[in-house]
Amino acid sequence: MSISFEQKVVILSGPSGTGKTTLMKHLLNSSLGKILGFSISATTRKPRPNEREGIDYFFLSLKDFENKIHEDAFLEWEEVYPGIRYGTLWTQIENLRKTQKHILFDIDVKGSLRLKNRFKNTCRSYFISLSNPKKVLIQRLETRNIHSPKSLKERINRVEWELSKKDSFDEIIVNDDLGTTQKRLIESVARFLGLNPSP
Ligand code: ADP
Ligand code: 5GP
Repeated sequence: MSISFEQKVVILSGPSGTGKTTLMKHLLNSSLGKILGFSISATTRKPRPNEREGIDYFFLSLKDFENKIHEDAFLEWEEVYPGIRYGTLWTQIENLRKTQKHILFDIDVKGSLRLKNRFKNTCRSYFISLSNPKKVLIQRLETRNIHSPKSLKERINRVEWELSKKDSFDEIIVNDDLGTTQKRLIESVARFLGLNPSP
């Protein structure tokens, strides 16, 4: 199975807590939402209280995830945190292709680099960062209050490595002011998709 030529790929990546989910939802609620579909990933982590099966993620057991690896059901997958896997199912890509939508990904840095390498110029990758990433990220992750101390520590440990890869992305977006970032991202994605954005 392959992605048709017309279908473009937009990737949001960067450390946990930089605002990727917030920005992804904003893009989908903007005028671009008509032509952009979110690739819902599969994960072996437990759902958070506000998350719904098939909307935020497909929540799989480790065994089901492994079966899907053996069936070649993933376009890509990564063990993003120790023991926790995330992956993009081919069925998601196929469903979006049928609806004639471009694909929006929110995936980790390693997976993004892999997809960029695969899709080249039909893909635009955004690294979402902050001007003082370490300090602010730790604060944001702590205030979200959704992580166990272990999960919080794992997320903080990854930040430095991820930041070291930012220059491999097509565009780095510093999300200090949410309104400014949202506007910039919509304009950039619209340009990439060959559209004039309306507010
Ligand atoms: P990620 O998906 O990258 O882990 P989220 O979108 O879940 O990040 O955002 C993490 C937290 O930071 C959320 O509480 C969100 O409302 C908040 N947030 C996102 N962008 C900004 C911003 N520019 N300024 C302040 N808080 C923000
Ligand atoms: P969270 O647990 O906060 O929802 O996501 C953790 C990390 O996993 C984020 O960096 C997110 O971008 C990444 N992620 C989510 N889905 C996928 C996926 O399908 N593949 C890869 N490689 N990373 C993913």
